[in-house]
Amino acid sequence: MMADKEKFFVPVIFADRFFMSANALADITLKGGYAWADAKDHFDLAEKLTGSPFVRVIVSEYIKINSLILEQAPGLKGVIAYGAGYDHIDVDFFTSRGIFVCNCRGENAQAVAELTFGLLLSLMRRIHLADHFIRENGWKRTDSAALPEWTMGRELWGKTFGIIGLGQIGSRVARIARGFDMRILSYDPFAQIKEGMGVESAGLEDILSNADIISLHVPLTAETEKMVNARALSLLKPEAVLVNTSRGKIIDEPALIKALEERRIGGAALDVFSQEPIPSDHPFFRLKNVVLSPHMGAMTQEAGERLSDAVVRQVRDIITGRKPECLIE
Ligand code: NAD
Repeated sequence: MMADKEKFFVPVIFADRFFMSANALADITLKGGYAWADAKDHFDLAEKLTGSPFVRVIVSEYIKINSLILEQAPGLKGVIAYGAGYDHIDVDFFTSRGIFVCNCRGENAQAVAELTFGLLLSLMRRIHLADHFIRENGWKRTDSAALPEWTMGRELWGKTFGIIGLGQIGSRVARIARGFDMRILSYDPFAQIKEGMGVESAGLEDILSNADIISLHVPLTAETEKMVNARALSLLKPEAVLVNTSRGKIIDEPALIKALEERRIGGAALDVFSQEPIPSDHPFFRLKNVVLSPHMGAMTQEAGERLSDAVVRQVRDIITGRKPECLIE
């Protein structure tokens, strides 16, 4: 559904482009309609809104939503973060004005947990290099000893796995890790470890110094920004690997690059970066002990369907003045 170039006459605006199922879109059409703003950034979104009094809900995956947006959409009742992370939304600003802010937590958790292991297995067994090698016609002999040295990987079985942030994603990661018979340590001062989870609570430094694999699943906050800095990296064992499917800014990237270049740690598997998309001359591209993916943790058909349904439910709640199910308080 299209709107005027610089003003929207529908209640629901999708700030950027993300997957919404056909059923979900049909449902929102019945609730008054929607428009894709396809904004480049929040300035662009504000310009496209330019005095849109009928807008009630803005759904945003990455576009910053702040006071500038409310100025142009004065009838706004709620902001929905498409996904789990909501560091792009000025929660305090909207909440103090009685405007709901919610996310779609949990709906994409399994997808992210599975990608975490996809990246990790690729890093440990060099699947990314092997695929490239075979396509480039590098496989000439059947004897395994003739294969490049890097094909000699490492197993997950019996390793110590450290989870930082034991929420929706972290606890699913723990469940999968159990299948590899790993010892699982977790640092999360706010989460309770449920009985039977097979997870031991540990301090951050304990995990950094003892785990073979460290996987990050915390939200980006003032506290977690650069949580993995040069000092934290200096505690890692030389073979330890780091997996980040949370937010890029949780790692001090220059410090990580240095540790990887100097081979002070075993490697890193990264789905998220401090600047996205990463520039084409980024140092990560020169490093073989790194596996990269383009922030696609939540990108499964199943998660897309669940996210779409969660958006519809919360649009309905916001429009009818009810508290949305995933309100951020
Ligand atoms: P969640 O809120 O369920 O879990 C986050 C956990 O982190 C909570 O248990 C919380 O107690 C803990 N935590 C918060 N601050 C902490 C701190 N300082 N130290 C240790 N633990 C702390 O969220 P989730 O659904 O598990 O998602 C986690 C993050 O993953 C999101 O905030 C988002 O940034 C990221 N994410 C990435 C993708 C992707 O595509 N790669 C997709 C979804 C979510």
